[in-house]
Amino acid sequence: MKLVFATNNLNKLKEVQEMLPSSIELLSLKDINCNEEVDETENTLQGNAKLKADYITKNYGYNCFADDTGLEVEALDGKPGVYSARFAGEPRSAERNMQKLLDELKNKSNRNAQFRTAICLNLDDKQFLFEGICTGEISHSKQGDKGFGYDPIFKPTNYNESFSTMSAAEKNKISHRGIAVQKLVDFLKNY
Ligand code: IMP
Repeated sequence: MKLVFATNNLNKLKEVQEMLPSSIELLSLKDINCNEEVDETENTLQGNAKLKADYITKNYGYNCFADDTGLEVEALDGKPGVYSARFAGEPRSAERNMQKLLDELKNKSNRNAQFRTAICLNLDDKQFLFEGICTGEISHSKQGDKGFGYDPIFKPTNYNESFSTMSAAEKNKISHRGIAVQKLVDFLKNY
């Protein structure tokens, strides 16, 4: 079965393909000659994941899944959430996003946060949603040089170090995206 992962991120694509049985051939947006950007205009992660998956299924006719991730900070009422990529405005910058978050938490003692990933799968005219959550806290300063986004300031629960100190394999085992993808893969294996 051919299945489109609505992403241009080849690292994400490779990671998921390695977890899937070989009977499922994963295709990127480039593989199906889709060069359009689908704007993430919804105000929930599930909404944006659905928007992207539906765009591909409707316009290209493929079974497809899409993901969206956000960092939800308790003391900021769940912000930046769905706006995580553009928290400090355009052009998007992980450095400025992290600095803004550290500034907003300066006088807060509650530093609890969680990453949440939503995946929407369109399969044979049916729709399925999967979710992965990784709880933790926002540290006071950056640590580590691996990963991306907010990794240097996110310390997962029961770990003394940030995501940025972990190898990709280590992070995937406990991360929001790893958990959501594992649920998707288990579902597809049993479909
Ligand atoms: P996306 O939906 O995977 O593109 O994620 C949206 C934004 O959330 C990214 O631009 C990052 O700022 C942040 N983000 C998502 N996943 C992670 C992660 O695993 N570590 C750190 N930041 C992340």
